Amino acid sequence: MDKNGDLSTQALGGNRIGIMGGTFDPIHHGHLFIAQTASDKLYLDKVLFIPTGKPPHKRRNIITDSDKRIDMLRLAIKNNPKFDISTIEITRGKTSYTIDTIKELQQYYDEVTKFYFIMGSDAFKYIETWKNYKELLKIARFVVMTRQILKNSSLDEKIELLIKKYDADIIKVEIPFLDISSTIIRQRVRGGNPIKYLLPEDVEEYIFKNKLYMNEG
Ligand code: ATP
Ligand code: MG
Repeated sequence: MDKNGDLSTQALGGNRIGIMGGTFDPIHHGHLFIAQTASDKLYLDKVLFIPTGKPPHKRRNIITDSDKRIDMLRLAIKNNPKFDISTIEITRGKTSYTIDTIKELQQYYDEVTKFYFIMGSDAFKYIETWKNYKELLKIARFVVMTRQILKNSSLDEKIELLIKKYDADIIKVEIPFLDISSTIIRQRVRGGNPIKYLLPEDVEEYIFKNKLYMNEG
């Protein structure tokens, strides 16, 4: 991030930019693993982690302060020069819609830049409920990270249909799935169960130091 808390000046030079959107409450190894895998497989110059301001798809209404979620992200990515944070969704303040984020990012980069929106297949299932999804599917390339081995014909069918119908640009990347979620981590903290090795050690320490997730799941 630069001193305005927005985009890395380094990132502006690259032209294959991965976008990892999420609440990151907290960031964990599932997020980091898909970001790294997408980066390796698609030769990305950079992956921007973009924490949501007000996420439209979350039923949970108590979300940890954006400052704390950013602190945790910072700790999690500090040793990876290809990873960076963009706070554009938090700065925007309103409900975060991916279409607005990508359009804003497009203004900061030159036209040859390609955006790769990285997401888990769980989130991709609901893509047609996203704001302006038809346009969204055209302006960014979608990278859907999916569980290895398991034959997922409904996902394949959905991808094929979206490609045909909307000329969408979707890539499927198979990964060994880490069954970790922020929800599980929050519940384990609340229940007094260890979270060691589910997320980076510094993030774990931060959670306990700041007494996060003690009262809600
Ligand atoms: P929550 O449990 O609060 O929903 P989460 O762990 O699912 O949190 P999100 O911030 O909702 O995290 O997800 C951000 C992105 O990361 C989504 O695209 C989601 O599909 C993906 N993701 C989250 N956990 C994993 C995982 N273990 N493996 C692969 N992708 C994941
Ligand atoms: Mg989720």
